[in-house]
Order: sequence, then structure tokens, then C-alpha cells
Amino acid sequence: MNRPGSDPVILARDLLRCPSVTPAEGGALAYLETVLKGAGFTVHRMTFSEPGAADVENLYARIGTTAPHLMFAGHTDVVPSGDPKSWSHAPFAGDVADGVLFGRGAVDMKGAIACKVAAALDYLAANGGKPKGSISFLITGDEEGIAVNGTIKLLKWAAERGEKFDHCILGEPGNVDILGDTIKLGRRGSQNGVLVISGKQGHVAYPHRADNPVRGLVKLMTALMDEPLDKGSDHFDPSNLEFTSIDIGNPTVNLIPGEARARFNIRFNDCHNYASLKALVEKRAAAAAGDKVRWRIDWEPSNADVFYTKPSAFTEAVVSTIAEVTGRKPKLSSSGGTSDARFIKDYCPVVEFGLVGQTMHAIDEQVPVADLTQLTAVYRRILDKYFG
Ligand SMILES: [Zn+2]
Repeated sequence: MNRPGSDPVILARDLLRCPSVTPAEGGALAYLETVLKGAGFTVHRMTFSEPGAADVENLYARIGTTAPHLMFAGHTDVVPSGDPKSWSHAPFAGDVADGVLFGRGAVDMKGAIACKVAAALDYLAANGGKPKGSISFLITGDEEGIAVNGTIKLLKWAAERGEKFDHCILGEPGNVDILGDTIKLGRRGSQNGVLVISGKQGHVAYPHRADNPVRGLVKLMTALMDEPLDKGSDHFDPSNLEFTSIDIGNPTVNLIPGEARARFNIRFNDCHNYASLKALVEKRAAAAAGDKVRWRIDWEPSNADVFYTKPSAFTEAVVSTIAEVTGRKPKLSSSGGTSDARFIKDYCPVVEFGLVGQTMHAIDEQVPVADLTQLTAVYRRILDKYFG
């Protein structure tokens, strides 16, 4: 193995060459283990299991024994490349061309992990090999999958051995157009449900003998789509209920179906918790149904609650550092999908700042070398301020 030192481009390139499509480790965690051990970190590798899911490997590394403790979190697993022939550079080659590094995971999020490692190694080299506190890496291989054998278990494992975290930076690619334009301080919650209308099956020519559930379905769907769930809050856009599928599954033309279903997803803000959200939706469905429509909602279990990280000296330091290094004042965002921050927020305040998300999960996922250099500089300066 070559010696990557604290060069984020070499670290990122080497990580991109590991084919770590979820749930495969692909050599990515082994690589990080070698690099971090070489810099004096104590490294743990854990494999977590869950019935019905593939085993997944994870890594936890720490240097230092005292507070304050800054955790760098992330994932080395990636989504599949799609057809490799559609790529201008092979998805797991780690090619650099015209100042751009190509590969699956370049921005989501091996690139950001490389920048964090580079920043940490450079900080340690400049400070006699020891932080004035603790730095840790909490890296999972189960973020892009169903996320049951990753960060959620890794955090529990760490808490059980007495690890205490003061702050976390997660490296998801939340910048929209250019590095430094966005930092994520919160995420909306996500809740799935199925609206089920019961009717009575019968011959389509004798509707008076049947009870068509489609009428009730349309009525309740309309009611649930008509009125917004709220007007938004200080930190979030309005919550949104979106129907994703209508399922009747009737293969014949002369039969009134006995049941009709519609699946939906709600992205909700901090005006709600799980219980109040479900109560609100059911109240609206009940009002629309009156005593004519027989209905129920089957709610799926969710582990994606809404959260917002309160502004603090730490968030202030991250924001000001981004401005100093990139020249841009980042927008404080809580939009988009969910992330592992939803698990981390139960252990310490978490902010999300990584690369630009434009090519994540896309063909020709790529990152400018200049972005890797600049993001490393952001993390490096955060370390100076954090332990200064
Ligand atoms: Zn990601």
C-alpha cells in the first residue's frame, strides 16, 4: 500500500477503488483502519447482524482520552454504479482527469471522509501527534441500504463502552451548487402509511348490491391532499403528505372491488411528533369519511424523527469557518431527505457539511480536486478552533 499521508486526493482515490456497494466492505474500512492506526488512532472493527438483513461491517476509531470529543461521522458504502459503460471513467477506478476525480462515492461520501482524515492527520502532525481532547471516526457500511446494521448500532455500541461525544460533523453532500453554500442543521421526519377503504365486492352492473371502495378512497385522498398539514416553522418548510401509489389490483372489468388502498409518505417538521401527526391525519380522514366510508390507516414503523440542532458556539464556529475558507456564508438548511444524523442527534449535537451533492448517485459521480482541497481546509480549521 502506498502512504497517503494527509493528501485528500490520494485518500479519496484509494477509497474510490474499493468496490464497497452496500453491504460489501470492499476494502474501504480496512484501508481506513490502516491509515488511522498509522496516525495513532485506536481502531475497532465491528460486524452487526439483524435477522433478514445482510451482515455489515463498521469502524470506530479514536485518538485522545479526554474531552472535548469531536466525532467525524460518515459512510463508506455506496449505491451501485449502474451500467459501467455509461460512465466516462470506470466507476471504481478513481481516475483524475482535468482536475476532477471520478467514481461512485466521490461526493457521497468517500470524498468527504478523505477530507476529514486528511484534516485530522495534518492537525495531529502539527500538534505533536495528540489532540487537545479527542477525535473519533464513526464510519458505517450501512447507510445507503436499510440502515439497520450501521450508525444506529455503532452509536449504541460506543455508548455501552462509555464513549461520550460532545459534537459531531457528518459529511453528507448537502451543498447545492457550490462548496460552502449550505450547512444542514436539521432534517424532517419521515412517516409511511397505507390508507385502506373497505367496501363490498359485487357485479359492476348491479352497483346497488355492492359498495365500491373507490368512491371512499377518492374522497379521503382528496381531503388529505387538500389542506396543508401546517404552515411551516422557524426552521422548516411546511410538512407534506404525498400519495405514492393507489392499489386496487382488480384484473377484471365487470367486478366492483371489495377493497382499495393508497400508500403515502409524510415528510414532517417540528410542528409535530409521531403521535400528533397520526392523530391529525386520522382526524381529517374521519371528517371526510363521515359515517359512510369504512376506512383505516396502517402506519408503518419509522425511525426517522424530525430534529433541529440548536445554534451554539459549535455551530457558530462551523459556519464562520466555512465563510472564512470558502468566502460564502452558508444557508442553514433543514430540507432534503433523511440521513444518519437522525440517529446521532440522540447522542450529541450534529451538523452536516460535506461536498456538493449534484452528482450523488448519478452516472459519472465526480468531485473537483479543488473542492477536496477546500473541504479539507474547512475541517482542518475547525479542528484548530475546536481544540484551540
Ligand atoms: Zn450519503
